[in-house]
Amino acid sequence: MKNNWKTSLKDQRRRKRRNRILLLCVAVLSLASIVWSFIPKTAVTDMAVVPNVLETEQLSVDKTQPPPPPDNIFVHNISAGDNLSVIFDTMLINQQTMLKILAADEQLLALDVLRPGNRLIFTLDKESRDLESMELFVHLGRQVIYQRIDAAHFESREIDIPGVWEQELVEGEINGSFILSAIDAGLSEQEAANITDLFESRIDFRRDLRAGDRFQVVRSLQAIGGMKTGQSKLIGIRMSGKNYDHDGFLCEDGNYYDHGGKSLARAFRRYPFSGHYRISSSFNPRRRHPITKRISPHNGTDFAMPTGTTIFSVGDGVVTRIKNHPYAGKYVEVKHGENYKTRYLHLSKFLVKRGQKVKRGQRIAMSGNTGRSTGPHLHYELHIKGRVVNPVKAKIPMAASIPKENREAFRSRVAKFTAMMETGEPTQLVHYGQPKMESL
Ligand SMILES: [Zn+2]
Repeated sequence: MKNNWKTSLKDQRRRKRRNRILLLCVAVLSLASIVWSFIPKTAVTDMAVVPNVLETEQLSVDKTQPPPPPDNIFVHNISAGDNLSVIFDTMLINQQTMLKILAADEQLLALDVLRPGNRLIFTLDKESRDLESMELFVHLGRQVIYQRIDAAHFESREIDIPGVWEQELVEGEINGSFILSAIDAGLSEQEAANITDLFESRIDFRRDLRAGDRFQVVRSLQAIGGMKTGQSKLIGIRMSGKNYDHDGFLCEDGNYYDHGGKSLARAFRRYPFSGHYRISSSFNPRRRHPITKRISPHNGTDFAMPTGTTIFSVGDGVVTRIKNHPYAGKYVEVKHGENYKTRYLHLSKFLVKRGQKVKRGQRIAMSGNTGRSTGPHLHYELHIKGRVVNPVKAKIPMAASIPKENREAFRSRVAKFTAMMETGEPTQLVHYGQPKMESL
């Protein structure tokens, strides 16, 4: 017994020592990565690869010797204020290569907004040290790969993993501003802002709310392999106080309606201009590019129009991007509530600023011929729930109340979520794939 105890003590010491050595390894590797980031550009070519977080974690649990990290893969974790051109410079990858990547990103524009938490993974050819591929890791559920296909071109591929969506009920009381109370209850700032947008026409968030008023939110969160991706959807919201009681539920068509089926959002316009213009290139996921002649999806609809034509926002929203892209040209992106986003490309002039709230029908820009363009035209894109759709044919909220075909299913969902809010108990926790409305 005593001996056993001694042996286990010895074991413990040995284990402790081993842990200490592993910890030291991790510390040395982390230090190496910090030193690496400070080394002047000219000395980077022969540097050892920076181990990313996953590799470092593996080191600390693997009992066996980890394989040496490859010397042709480099990871860059995006921090605030990072810019692609500087990152490429630091990686000693020339700006021509960056332009080729941006050309492959013309239809996605995924590289135009790099956020802390995103990661770029560069893979070089082992012999020539040319860039072979670059991966943009957005979150666990979304990556974009830019793969070299020949000396002059890269092609882009999106990887979207549906994962598992779990519902939860978040509730709270107003104490101070709605945004702060919502954050206190566990909602993100973005979710809180989405709720104020959603109820903008019904609740005056500055005047109507009183301390002690209640809010309840049924939220769906995405998880992959048991890990949260950070992606969420609000599927039912109720705001109630002494003088008001409002609710909103997400319907299959991507819009929010109250329990009576009245739309919370104002209707959209079909086209972002007045008058008629010829479609010079339609929305086509299998299009051959007019200049490169390769299959490259056309994510928008091109309308031939003279430079200087006034462009309107198709719906109420917030301007999320004002950019000048080498291929997309000058462009504007507007977010309309939680599910809709529109983009207007090849513009000649901006009439709005980033962060500005815009109304349906408000002038936002003048059309033009900037970027890679074969003539003056507007490239117009509509995204619904993160997917690009044909803006000419898509179902958009044109009406003020719920479409007939969705009424029945919507009614039963409202009953279910209302019950969930009353009892505080989620009725069904896990859903697979995209949060399909039928399964909600
Ligand atoms: Zn186009």
